Amino acid sequence: MASDLKEAGGLTRLFVAATLEPGATVTLDDGQSHYLLHVLRAKTGDRVLLFNGRDGEWQAEIAIAGKRGVALSVRARTMPQASVPDLWLVFAPVKKTPSDYLTQKATELGVSKLQPVFTRRTIVTRLNEERLLANAVEAAEQSGRLTVPQIGAAMPLDKLLAIWPRERPLYFCDEDGDALPLAEAVRKTGEGAGAILTGPEGGFDPAEREVLRALTFVTPVSLGPRILRADTAALAAVTIWQSVKGDWRQN
Ligand code: SAH
Repeated sequence: MASDLKEAGGLTRLFVAATLEPGATVTLDDGQSHYLLHVLRAKTGDRVLLFNGRDGEWQAEIAIAGKRGVALSVRARTMPQASVPDLWLVFAPVKKTPSDYLTQKATELGVSKLQPVFTRRTIVTRLNEERLLANAVEAAEQSGRLTVPQIGAAMPLDKLLAIWPRERPLYFCDEDGDALPLAEAVRKTGEGAGAILTGPEGGFDPAEREVLRALTFVTPVSLGPRILRADTAALAAVTIWQSVKGDWRQN
C-alpha cells in the first residue's frame, strides 16, 4: 500500500535540480536515494514533494526504488513558485557557533543570500561553502521554502564593499556608538532589498567602523542595550527586518 513519506511537517520535501512538469521523471542523487530507501524505507508508489527553486512544488511518486537509486514520476503541482524577500545576511563567521548553525537558522528565517565576510578581527579563516549549501538545502526542505538561499563566496570586507550594489541598503549592526534601532532604520527605507552586516566575536575595529559609517549605502543600527553574541545578533536582526519589511509583517 503506497504511503505518504511523512516527516514532522508533512510529506518529505526534496530539492532537485531537474525541471518539474507533469509526467517528468526525476532521478535522485545517491544521497537522496539513500535517504528515501534506507532512512525512510520508501517503496515504489510512495509520494514525496519536489521543488527546484524555479517551477514551484510538485507531488511525485516513486516509480523505481532499486539498487541503482530512486526515480520519481512527477504528478501535480502543489505550490506555485514563490520567493522569499530579498534580504542578504553578511556575517563574519565565528568560532563558537558553526556557520552551519547560522546558515540553517537564517534559511528558516527567510534570507535570500548568506555572504560570509572576513573582517580584521575574524578568527575563522576557512569556510566549507559546500557544507553551508548542504545545510541551506536541508533547512529549505524542512521549512517549506521554495528557494534555497545563495551562499556567496567568502571574501574580505573591503573587497565586498568595493563591489557592493549601491542600491541595496546595508544595515551595519554596530554595538558601539550612536545608531538607530534597526526597526526604525528599516522603516525609513523604501520597499525592496536589504542586507544585514554583523561582526565577529571581537567586533569591528575602529578603522573598519569609520569606513563603514562613511559609505552612503550603509546605515549603522543598534540591536538594543546589551552586547549580543554574533550569531544572536545576526538572527535577531534578520527577524526584525523580516517583521518590518519582509514577509512576516501584517499586510
Ligand atoms: N565588540 C563587542 C563584541 C562584538 S559582538 C564587545 O566585545 O564588546 C559581535 C557582533 O554582533 C558585533 O560586531 C555586532 O555586529 C553585533 N552586535 C552585538 N550586539 C549588538 C548590539 N547591541 N547592537 C548592534 N550590533 C550588535
